[in-house]
Formats: sequence, C-alpha cells, structure tokens
Amino acid sequence: MSHTAALALADVAVAAEPTPLAGHRFTQNYAKQPELYAYARFIADKYNLYDRILADTPVSSAVFDAEQQQWLVSTERGDSVTARFVILANGPLTEPKFPTDIAGMDDFAGHTFHTARWDESFDLSGKRVGVIGTGTSAVQTVPRVAEVAEHLTVFQRTPIYCTPKADGAVDPEWHHKLKYEDGWMDKVRDDYW
Ligand SMILES: Cc1cc2nc3c(=O)[nH]c(=O)nc-3n(C[C@H](O)[C@H](O)[C@H](O)COP(=O)(O)OP(=O)(O)OC[C@H]3O[C@@H](n4cnc5c(N)ncnc54)[C@H](O)[C@@H]3O)c2cc1C
Repeated sequence: MSHTAALALADVAVAAEPTPLAGHRFTQNYAKQPELYAYARFIADKYNLYDRILADTPVSSAVFDAEQQQWLVSTERGDSVTARFVILANGPLTEPKFPTDIAGMDDFAGHTFHTARWDESFDLSGKRVGVIGTGTSAVQTVPRVAEVAEHLTVFQRTPIYCTPKADGAVDPEWHHKLKYEDGWMDKVRDDYW
C-alpha cells in the first residue's frame, strides 16, 4: 500500500469504525502505519479482493469506445481491461516535487532524500540532519528525527498554521455503544470536530 493510501485510511480512522459490519476497531484516533496496513489486509482478505486488484500496475490509457459503450483500459504491464464504468481514484498529489533551484544541492556531499521517497536503508541516528520545509510532511517527520539525530536544523521559508492533534485511544466501551444507524458516521464526525 502506498504512503498516501495509508494516509487516506488515516482520515477514515478518525471515525473509529469505518466498516462496522466488518467488526473492526482502530485503537487510536490517528492509527499508525502498522495498524492501517493490517486493516487494509483485513479488508482485502474479508472481501476476497486480492484476485481483483492489479497491484504495482500503472494505468497507461483509458479510452471510451462509443460504439461498444465501454472503456478500454490499458496498463503498463500489457493488460487490456474493458469496463462499462471507470472510477478514477488516482489522487492529485502522488507525484512529489523535487526542488531543483536550491543552490549548492548538486555539490552537497552528504546524503539527501525526499520524504516521499524515504530511504529506509539510511539510519539518521547520531547524524547532523537538515530538514528543508515545514509543511505537513515536516510536521510529522521533525519530532521523530529530533529524537534520534545528533543535531537537527529545520529550514523554514513560510510559517504554517498548526492546530493540536486530537489524538487518543479509542475507548472500546464508547465504541461498543455506537449505534450503526443511517448517518452514524456523520454524527461521530460532528462530535469529533
Ligand atoms: C505530503 C502530504 C502529507 C499529507 N498528510 C496528511 C495527513 O497527515 N493526514 C491526512 O488525512 N491527509 C494527509 N495528506 C492528504 C492525503 O494524503 C490525501 O488527501 C489522500 O491520500 C488522497 O487520497 P486519494 O485516494 O484521493 O489519492 P491517493 O492517496 O493519492 O491515491 C492515489 C493512488 O492512485 C495511484 N495512481 C496514480 N496514477 C495511477 C495510474 N496511472 N495507474 C494506477 N494507479 C495510479 C497512486 O499510485 C496512488 O496509490 C497528505 C498529503 C501529502 C501529499
């Protein structure tokens, strides 16, 4: 599962029980990656989705055949799939912006990587680290890097507006009492916000 897909699930996790009939409960308002990943697998198992998902398969074109009244969807792996309906869920933010106009970047001798392409093989412990930017990625990254880095410098161009994160454990008793009637999720969201 991609980073962003996990984040989309995080949004859903706020409602504490995205699919009550599936019998699932997140333990935290902002569930962490292992729990989100486990949930995605749980849903895929429960609804037998593995056979219907083409993972790691970019769609290269979708052409509507007016005569046949159907779409022809082609993938970069050579599949051709016809469908009467196509729902695009390709997201607007999946391509990271790699800055090219930071002077000296090409000559920088240290290791660099983008938060959207996190280098899992590189251990930041005990290193002198610089983080460029203070947007949503930095808000989530900086506290963790600060815990392990020997020294951390955060470069800020424009201050952002941040509100406290209303995180916390989902009370199992409260969760148990939820009434899964029409509109229950709206109610949970209204109470939450
Ligand atoms: C840096 C950053 C930080 C964020 N932080 C948060 C946060 O803390 N909390 C929060 O709630 N939201 C956060 N968001 C927003 C959240 O990630 C998005 O709102 C959410 O992921 C959008 O979900 P989506 O399903 O529409 O698209 P996405 O999650 O972007 O999913 C689109 C999927 O389509 C796939 N795709 C694209 N093109 C093709 C193709 N041609 N063929 C096949 N597949 C394709 C992509 O690989 C991707 O898996 C953040 C976003 C960014 C960029």
